[in-house]
Amino acid sequence: MGFIADSLNRIQPSATIAVSTKARQLKATGRDIISLSAGEPDFDTPQNIKDAAKRALDAGKTKYTDVDGIPELKAAIAAKFKRENGLDYKTSQVSVGTGGKQVLYNALLATLNPGDEVIMPAPCWVSYADIVILGGGVPVFAQTHLEDGYKLKPEALEKVITPKTKWFVFNSPSNPTGTAYSAEDLKLLTDVMLRHPHVWILTDDMYEHLLYDDLKFATIAEVEPRLYERTLTMNGLSKAYCMTGWRLGYAAGPELLIKAMYKLQSQSTSNPSSIVQWAGVEALNGPQDFIAANNAIFVKRRDLVVSMLNQASGLVCPKPQGAFYVYPSIKGTIGKTSKSGVAIKTDEDFVTALLEEEGVAVVHGAAFEGSPSFRLSYAASTASLEEACKRIQRFCGNLS
Ligand code: PLP
Repeated sequence: MGFIADSLNRIQPSATIAVSTKARQLKATGRDIISLSAGEPDFDTPQNIKDAAKRALDAGKTKYTDVDGIPELKAAIAAKFKRENGLDYKTSQVSVGTGGKQVLYNALLATLNPGDEVIMPAPCWVSYADIVILGGGVPVFAQTHLEDGYKLKPEALEKVITPKTKWFVFNSPSNPTGTAYSAEDLKLLTDVMLRHPHVWILTDDMYEHLLYDDLKFATIAEVEPRLYERTLTMNGLSKAYCMTGWRLGYAAGPELLIKAMYKLQSQSTSNPSSIVQWAGVEALNGPQDFIAANNAIFVKRRDLVVSMLNQASGLVCPKPQGAFYVYPSIKGTIGKTSKSGVAIKTDEDFVTALLEEEGVAVVHGAAFEGSPSFRLSYAASTASLEEACKRIQRFCGNLS
């Protein structure tokens, strides 16, 4: 028995944070590093949101608030769900936490019993599985494939459902693949869910607004109202509102679940920062036009990286319709050797050698349960993306 809890020894530190930290350390030693590993927009938070935070501070909004959010923010969230998703939620069905991550953590920890299974499409965001494991549950991966644009097939979902399945965690647009589902795509999955009434659905809509090529966003409870009673619709301010460091996320769902999440949060962090909550009210109620302006930039960057990566020897890069990630397969490089003599046996070998030899930081697919691939975040300046893709092309060209 060690000092550290067994439960903690069963999980991994976040791989995306680990790669970003390593890239920062290398940069600090003077090396020329381009880091495309972090999942955050390079744009600054819009000024009206910053101003709202300053006003809150000056007005003395510096005290404890209700554990799971001030009424004004809950009202803004309920209005957002009505306006953008056609979903009716009372403020008593809304929960606000310190980042989307805490909201997910609350929902899973508040509901999982030992051995409960949680299905997630693979590749998927790094934290789902570890949060499930911390909660005593068992992550179950429903595999998706590059040939299908990483979209989950209804058969693949149905195959992994058992009497022990408690949750299906779904995420569109997806981190790490950027895959986005239309309402028609979702209907295929909600039909499966209707046949399994014991399974709850946690839909992570974090990248809702980062959608391209005129694809219209859809979410599960909207597409299939019969699932409303067992769906938690989660979202947050981090990505579209360029507020990753502020830490604000939210969800809406059945009151029973929202109350359980409240109980857990009341014994951990209590309320999210009071100042940040007031900024959140402005973010949701204020002008939204910066989102389209940012997306116009993202889409150009996506097209650039997809085109350049597909010209790299051994890489195949699908063109996703959402988020700010691409997820190329590196299958064609496995078994080769890099310029400095590193044998590429796994995607971890690939990204490690790429960082050492060319100074480009990306995250290996194994971290997302989807190998052999890597995730590149194109939330970076066009010039640095162009340079990074040139270096990736050179790295792949030098493999022998
Ligand atoms: N869900 C997905 C799919 C994400 O990519 C992230 C952040 O990377 C989160 C949730 C958590 O977001 P937050 O930074 O608000 O905790």
